[in-house]
Amino acid sequence: MKNNNNRTLEASFQQGVFDKLLSAIWIYDIDHYHIYWANQAALKMWQADSLEELINRDFKPGTSDAVQHTLRNYQKEFEQQKTISRMWQYNPKGVKKEAFCQMSSFKFDDGRIGLLCEALEPHLLGNSFNQNSVVLLSNYDLMGNFISGNPPFVQKFSSCCQNLQKLIIDDQLRESLLMTIGSNERFEMDVQVRTNAGPCWYRLIADISSEDTLHRTISVQQFDINERKLLELTFAKEAITDSLTGLLNRRGLDRELQKLSIQNEPFLIFYIDLDGFKMINDSLGHQVGDVILKAMAQRLLEINDGKLFVCRYGGDEFILVSSAKNIVTQASTFADKLMSNLNEPYLFDGTQSLLVSVSIGITRYPEDGDDVSKLILRADAAMYSAKKKGKKRWVNYIQGMESGLQRQNEIAQRLFKALKHSNLMLYYQPIYNLELNEIDSFEALLRLNDQELGWVSPEEIVSVAEEVGIIAELEYWIIERAISDLSSLRQLTTDKAMMAINISGIHFSDPKLVPYILGLLEKYKVSKDSIIVELTESALLSDIDIHDNSALRFTEAGITLSIDDFGTGFSSLAYLHKIPASIVKIDRSFTQRLEEDPSLISSIYQLIKSQGFKALVEGVETDQQSRLLKELGISLQQGYGLGFPQALSFYANQFKWEKETQRALT
Ligand code: C2E
Ligand code: MG
Ligand code: MG
Repeated sequence: MKNNNNRTLEASFQQGVFDKLLSAIWIYDIDHYHIYWANQAALKMWQADSLEELINRDFKPGTSDAVQHTLRNYQKEFEQQKTISRMWQYNPKGVKKEAFCQMSSFKFDDGRIGLLCEALEPHLLGNSFNQNSVVLLSNYDLMGNFISGNPPFVQKFSSCCQNLQKLIIDDQLRESLLMTIGSNERFEMDVQVRTNAGPCWYRLIADISSEDTLHRTISVQQFDINERKLLELTFAKEAITDSLTGLLNRRGLDRELQKLSIQNEPFLIFYIDLDGFKMINDSLGHQVGDVILKAMAQRLLEINDGKLFVCRYGGDEFILVSSAKNIVTQASTFADKLMSNLNEPYLFDGTQSLLVSVSIGITRYPEDGDDVSKLILRADAAMYSAKKKGKKRWVNYIQGMESGLQRQNEIAQRLFKALKHSNLMLYYQPIYNLELNEIDSFEALLRLNDQELGWVSPEEIVSVAEEVGIIAELEYWIIERAISDLSSLRQLTTDKAMMAINISGIHFSDPKLVPYILGLLEKYKVSKDSIIVELTESALLSDIDIHDNSALRFTEAGITLSIDDFGTGFSSLAYLHKIPASIVKIDRSFTQRLEEDPSLISSIYQLIKSQGFKALVEGVETDQQSRLLKELGISLQQGYGLGFPQALSFYANQFKWEKETQRALT
């Protein structure tokens, strides 16, 4: 209902037009505390016997300062043609009533502004009525001491309304309220306040009354928004929280990092990635994967020392942000601590334990970038570099590392394609038994010659495949190709030759692997003792102390294990006896030092032999090396000097050539 034309309105009053309405309508003279006019419904609402009685009623004794100040403020808003909608509580003749009021201006003949109110009681509002939305009014002196409040306010705040300090929980908000109204502006915000029943959220509007400069007061209106606000806060929290771990999610991290960079405080980002998590999920199931992720989140939360917050950034990626005040050396100590903590075994299913390692990349704000998204990208690049260096380590970001990430993405794309279109190749390098002067076995080595990337090293391919989670698929292809090619190789070379297949440390724990190999052996009619599985010592040692470890699954199935690149790990000799392997491949770095110090390789060989292993030396490039090794008693040798890795077709051609020359000679 608008009040633009008072004359029309008054004519309508007289004709009783408004008496037919269900809503109560009245005009209130704010300055004189009197109702000027009301319709029939309003008489009922005000418990009045007649219009005359209501018009003569003096509202001053029942009006608190707080209410009067609020009405004065409304008056100012009416002057600007504003309307106000509020839930009000009335106490006519001591009867408590509530109504939803739409208030607007009514201009008296003398030019003063009155209040024209149209009120609907709750039963007329239906479901949209909210008990809690009654407006609460209170006022305070300029020191914040309570003066008065309307009845619903007093009822809710009797024990905590002595002053604003007690009312408003947040000190900063209270200060901001006083500052805002001090500069004659309105303060309006969602504020948590103390009520008799505990903290509650209110929309709080505060103004300063200015009609009497000597008695200026702060008038406060409050609307209960607790339910809505709590819901809002829950949504807000959910929107920034990872549902599995309860850590911040990406959005939450972004928000916190933006805040940090605005404060200009130096900080460190630790980008943490599990090594081979996809494999855990695939082989042990997602439930076990989830247990590991949750446990990891818990460990990250428990780490202190300047940690600011932790986020689950992606499937198996976490980001920990720590304060970098007075740091430099601390970053490495912190990273060491993270590593040793996260690499401890994880328990699942009550009794089972699993060793999982992580790789970490570190960036610093602001040194490594002042843009939060760049910092994360760079930490990711440093983490990738840690993976490339052999995983289970941390690496600081160095300028330009991002190009490594780009390459990883490219390789991943090409690898997907190569797997799909069978563009991958296996080369076979002979391993000679020089005592018998024949090929003992072949080592299957992966090759990819990509149209765009050229030759990609197998180490890079394997690392990317592990990272993007297709290592199992890749190695299943390799194993089948190697086993199926063995009979051809045997026909072309020697019929006793065995096939050595490299298996990634991450794939090794896949429980499906042994049955898969056994199935292929049957399919291609190859005996179990024709197959050797090569693994690095760190892969073999990783679960050695666990009952039912992966290595035992192989040996119990009758498959020979070989320790690859022996001597490059750190605990080799001390742990050798624990590994159920039969062959040890001495790394080529020892071969390179053979001529200057033959005793080193000799003593390693003696030790290996004494523990019952067969020893083999890798990287034999020259005749001299081969001869020296033979003199030391090492007859199993592999290297470019004896034979390069070659495709099956090479052996077929060579065989053909040999046959042809033989025929020509005879
Ligand atoms: P590895 O298992 O130790 O294989 C031997 C590597 O040494 C091969 O490198 C081979 O070409 C190279 N090599 C052989 N003789 C000599 C020599 O006289 N001098 C030098 N400098 N190198 C020699 P390649 O083929 O580049 O493979 C590198 C590594 O990539 C392998 O080391 C292995 O760890 C991994 N890899 C290769 N193929 C596969 C595969 O099918 N599966 C898995 N999981 N890893 C593979
Ligand atoms: Mg190998
Ligand atoms: Mg090797």
